[in-house]
Amino acid sequence: MKPAPFDYLAPATLDEALAALARGAGDAVVLAGGQTLVPLLALRMSTPSVLIDINRIPELAGISREGAATRIGATTRQAAVLADPAVAGHTPGLTQATRFVGHHQTRNRGTIGGSICLADPAAEYPATAVALGAEIEVRSASGARRIAAEDFFLGAYTTALEPDEMVTALRFPDWPAGTVTLVREVAPRPGDFALVGLVGAFALEAGKVQRASIAWFGMGGAPVKSRKAEAAMAGRSLGELDLQEAAQLAVSETDPFDDIHATAAYRRTVGARIFRKAVGETLGLQRAAA
Ligand SMILES: Cc1cc2nc3c(=O)[nH]c(=O)nc-3n(C[C@H](O)[C@H](O)[C@H](O)COP(=O)(O)OP(=O)(O)OC[C@H]3O[C@@H](n4cnc5c(N)ncnc54)[C@H](O)[C@@H]3O)c2cc1C
Repeated sequence: MKPAPFDYLAPATLDEALAALARGAGDAVVLAGGQTLVPLLALRMSTPSVLIDINRIPELAGISREGAATRIGATTRQAAVLADPAVAGHTPGLTQATRFVGHHQTRNRGTIGGSICLADPAAEYPATAVALGAEIEVRSASGARRIAAEDFFLGAYTTALEPDEMVTALRFPDWPAGTVTLVREVAPRPGDFALVGLVGAFALEAGKVQRASIAWFGMGGAPVKSRKAEAAMAGRSLGELDLQEAAQLAVSETDPFDDIHATAAYRRTVGARIFRKAVGETLGLQRAAA
């Protein structure tokens, strides 16, 4: 099948792209890495009248440090995120997550902004952005706003973006020294979307969990934050942690689905097991992880 006809625009500036998006009045679509959009066009599951290719806008790509945060432009390739030393040093959870995002080939074209905007329930980046407390920079022709990642993902393939808005960057705040992070998933094959996935960040000080942040992917329409488990872990010394209890709490907050790949019950069972094992290993509690 071939895509339905559309006008193709490749603006050189963000202002031009935003003006075109505003003119498109909900019928214009942004093209980033094209790893998902191009097949959708070919299958005619997406039939926009205008395609706005944002790959030639220099200000949308690149990684920089801004204050105590790492700012990543929307069209930064996933391969560039994986290779970046500032990301590895300040936001290691994002480096860990990127290893699971597709394959070398898809990471060479796929962008961090495209993955966030697609909001696939089984994708790694949305849950990672939520767990690490990222903010999403959004622009339209009429203004700019920042949206906390937690408020950005509304459901499967659904975000808080308005039709005339575009994601311009993600901003990951630094976590305190002594923070440990984990990203784990179960997938049919390496590079496949996850059946169950977990992202965790734990700020440790003097043998205590000062702050815990936990988000699941593949366990609901949007990333699922485990607030009860976070509350049960925060303020506890490592020796006092009850990983069995925390795992049950964490899974109790999810809303997994049955599909052709796995049942909801399987996802819950595997989720609890991943939680105990991964959190135990990451916090150095080998006995508890067994
Ligand atoms: C074989 C294969 C395996 C994959 N495995 C995984 C995986 O394991 N995990 C995973 O997370 N992903 C996976 N993907 C998805 C992929 O790698 C990309 O992350 C994803 O397709 C979106 O990024 P993109 O840059 O290609 O966006 P596009 O395909 O260009 O766009 C996706 C959607 O986002 C919109 N969009 C893009 N950028 C913006 C922006 N800045 N502002 C507003 N809207 C925007 C587009 O309009 C479109 O609706 C896989 C893809 C393939 C082909």
